[in-house]
Amino acid sequence: LPPAPVAALQHADVAALLPVPGAESDKYRRGVVGVAAGSARYPGAALLAVAGALRGGAGAVRYTGHAAEEVVRRHPEALVTEAGPARAGRVQAWVVGPGGGDGAEQALREALDTDAPVLADADALTELGRLGPALLAGRTAPTLLTPHAGEAARLLAGIGEHTDADTVAAHRLRSARLLAARYGATVLLKGSTTVVADPDGRARTNPTGTGWLGTAGSGDVLAGLAGSLLATGLGPLDAASVAAYLHGLAGRHAAGTGAPITALDIAEALPSVWRSLT
Ligand code: AMP
Ligand code: MG
Repeated sequence: LPPAPVAALQHADVAALLPVPGAESDKYRRGVVGVAAGSARYPGAALLAVAGALRGGAGAVRYTGHAAEEVVRRHPEALVTEAGPARAGRVQAWVVGPGGGDGAEQALREALDTDAPVLADADALTELGRLGPALLAGRTAPTLLTPHAGEAARLLAGIGEHTDADTVAAHRLRSARLLAARYGATVLLKGSTTVVADPDGRARTNPTGTGWLGTAGSGDVLAGLAGSLLATGLGPLDAASVAAYLHGLAGRHAAGTGAPITALDIAEALPSVWRSLT
């Protein structure tokens, strides 16, 4: 069978998918996104994932990890907990891995054991590539993987396909589809043209990218944003493709006619981008 055709979301599609709180809504009904990220060495990744998660539509962000002090200082809105994903309380979707360091494997295992959707990024992807798709076998809720080309190469090694980042980047769609099928997870493969592939064969490309997004911490913001959309109830294909779309627009908005931007600039441009779509 030929693979299903590839679509690109348009403005109107994204606008229709953006979550809108109902009149009777509250922070819990809007969805709580859990962020298990950051380490003593990389607290910044946690801050950036939380920054994205706070602007992705969820009603609350619950943070667990080794950067709790930094997170509350920078983001007083975040709820911090010492408990890992297994005991952290009500969460509708987990984001695991940015800057996770040594804690990533434990956090990933705990999050995968819940019945909430899980987004795995960065160090969590390294662990998943090492342990292979069997780690996802018992999942009842969707899993979303957000590798860049290098992380995708590590995931491919986990299914016995030894390759490198350049080869993945040259065969983006094929790589994303193969990973989605073999891991049974939705895959958002980041890069110059971001693609999203679902295990059922559907795939989308993102039309909003810009080279200005290639800045340290950019992917951490995307992970928080996509996790927040998952927590509002979007399915993994929609959450991933809407997140990539908004992230690209936010980068363009922040860069304007052309200026270097930081990852935090991308997160802070998100409300303007939502307004422009609604
Ligand atoms: P990460 O490597 O995890 O920080 O993620 C980098 C982010 O920037 C991803 O969302 C990429 O899709 C995006 N990005 C990096 N380089 C480019 C590029 N040349 N064009 C468009 N998006 C890019
Ligand atoms: Mg990254």
